[in-house]
Amino acid sequence: MSVKENLKLVLDEIDKAKSRRAVDSGDVTLVAVTKNHGVDLMREAIDGGVTNIGENRVQEAAEKLAVLERGVTKHLIGHLQTNKVKQAVKLFDLIHSVDSENLVTAIDKAAGAIGKVQDVLIQVNLANEESKFGASIENLQNLFDTADTLKNIRVRGLMLIAPNYADVEFCRPLFRSMRRIFEQVGKTRQDFDFLSMGMTHDYIIAVEEGANIVRIGTAIFGERI
Ligand SMILES: *Cc1c(COP(=O)(O)O)cnc(C)c1O
Repeated sequence: MSVKENLKLVLDEIDKAKSRRAVDSGDVTLVAVTKNHGVDLMREAIDGGVTNIGENRVQEAAEKLAVLERGVTKHLIGHLQTNKVKQAVKLFDLIHSVDSENLVTAIDKAAGAIGKVQDVLIQVNLANEESKFGASIENLQNLFDTADTLKNIRVRGLMLIAPNYADVEFCRPLFRSMRRIFEQVGKTRQDFDFLSMGMTHDYIIAVEEGANIVRIGTAIFGERI
């Protein structure tokens, strides 16, 4: 199967999942995750209609995006170290993986230095997995409060990486409570409009439960080497 055929299948599944939603939670943006793949596959995806590209490492993204001749919206989905913040702010339109006050502060500073307001999502560790990055629910408000004192960072929503359960249905309650939290927080915030959840193994359930950004690699490009 070609990238274009895979893309069509994924977009079809997203549409079908949207139609199964209990409540209409709007459109879904597909972020095609090109990590560990070459620029040729990036180009193929863009030819197939992809307008949003996701990468998880700053250095790899910088190298590939430097030679990509076409404009795309660029997403950083992987963990961000403070020593890579400057480069990340130069490169990415949306950073999905902000989970500490240190990062919030560092991103604001780097964005201010280049006259940019950086859009970010707060990554939440909802299942409280020890091995995962992400802010705890208890720490969310602190992160919002810190970001609200700063001019060059704008929190646009939340991001979740669900645990890799053998039975993907176990993800559903997590996605559902994430949507609830997203709506609750959104009542008191402006420009808070993105809920990024769902990857190859769980995106259909994520969309059913109200994700409006999904991050998909394997289902589009095949297994990574
Ligand atoms: C790699 C990655 C994805 C895409 O994973 P697939 O299972 O290949 O769809 C999504 N989100 C994050 C944070 C990732 O690191």
